[in-house]
Amino acid sequence: MPPSEIQELDSRTVERIAAGEVVERPASAVKELLENAIDADASRVTVAVESGGTESIRVSDDGIGMSEPALKQAIKEHTTSKIGDIEDLESGVATLGFRGEALHAIGAVSRMTITSRPRGGGRGTELVVEGGDVTSVEPAGCPEGTTVELEDLFYNVPARRKYLKQESTEFDHVNRIVTNYALANPDVAITLEHDGRETFATNGTGDLRETVLSVYGREVAESMIELAPEDVDDGPLDGISGLVSHPETNRASREYCSTFVNGRYVTANTVRDAVFEAYGAQLAPDRYPFAVVFLDVDPANVDVNVHPRKLEVRFAAEEAVSEQIESAVESALLREGLLRSNAPRG
Ligand code: ADP
Ligand code: MG
Repeated sequence: MPPSEIQELDSRTVERIAAGEVVERPASAVKELLENAIDADASRVTVAVESGGTESIRVSDDGIGMSEPALKQAIKEHTTSKIGDIEDLESGVATLGFRGEALHAIGAVSRMTITSRPRGGGRGTELVVEGGDVTSVEPAGCPEGTTVELEDLFYNVPARRKYLKQESTEFDHVNRIVTNYALANPDVAITLEHDGRETFATNGTGDLRETVLSVYGREVAESMIELAPEDVDDGPLDGISGLVSHPETNRASREYCSTFVNGRYVTANTVRDAVFEAYGAQLAPDRYPFAVVFLDVDPANVDVNVHPRKLEVRFAAEEAVSEQIESAVESALLREGLLRSNAPRG
C-alpha cells in the first residue's frame, strides 16, 4: 500500500533523485569531471575507465588544484567558484561548469576519492565521499592538480545501476564525450584509457588537425578542409571555423559531426543538418561527413542553459544560423572543387 498522506521526502532520497538528474550514466560523470579539469586550467588530463566506466572512472589533471578547505567546500551542494549570481550567467559564462552541483551529485551515488594539491605550493589532501557522506579527509602526497576517482557508480541506486547498458555501449558514450572535449580543446593534452589500454591521446599543441589525427586517424585528418574566414558570410553568427571532411571520407553515422558553440560542446541538430545540407548530392542519403565546427555567437543570442545533461542549445535565429553554416561549408567545398553540382540532396 502506498502511503496516503502527502509527506516530505527525507534529504537522502531528495539527494539521490537530484543526483540522478545530473549523472545519468558513466559518460555523464566523465563529462562533469573533464569539464572541471579543463575549467581548472589543466594542460594535461587523463581519463581512465574500467568496464566502460561501470567499475571505475578516474580523471587526473595538472590544473590549479584545491586546498583542503576548498576541497571540503567543493563537494557541498550548489558550491561553485565560477559564478556569483544570475547576472554572471546572463552575461555569458567563460567556464564549462557553473551550476556547482556535479561533485556533490557524483559523491551521492558513488564511492568518490578526490586527491588534490594547489598549484604553486600547499599541501595535498585526500577526501573520500561514500554515498554522500565524507568518510575521511587526510593529508596526501600527490602532484599539483586534482585526481577524482569513482568506484561503483550507482552502487546505492540499484534501479539505475540495473539500467546501465553493456560495458561496450557505456564505453562508446564515454569515448564520444572525451573525443568531443579533446576536439574542442586542442591546447589540452587529453588521454583516454579503457581497461588499461590507451584509446587515444592528443598532444595539446593547439593544432586542430593534429587533434583530429589523434582521435580519428590519418585518413580522416588528411581529408579535412578548413573553414576559412572568407567562407563565412554575415549573419547571426560572429564566426564559423573548423574542419570538414572531403565527401569521400564519410561514415554511416551522424556522430562524427561535432559542433561547438563559444567553445562549448553541444548537440545541435540545426547545426549538423546545415553542415550535411552543404554536401548536397556528394553524399548518399545515409552517409555523413566528419566535421569539427566552431561557432562564435553573442551569448545574448544563444541559450546554453537548456538542460544540465543534454548538451542542447537554442539559437534566437535558427533559420539564419542554418543558412550561414550551410553557405560557409559549401564555399569551403567549392573552393576545393569538391562540389560538382548544386543538385539538392536526396
Ligand atoms: P561547477 O563546476 O559547476 O562549479 P562542481 O560541483 O563541478 O561545480 O565543482 C565545484 C567546485 O569545485 C568548482 O567550482 C571548482 O572550484 C572546484 N573543482 C572541481 N573540480 C576541480 C578540479 N579538477 N580542479 C580544481 N578545482 C576543481
Ligand atoms: Mg563542474
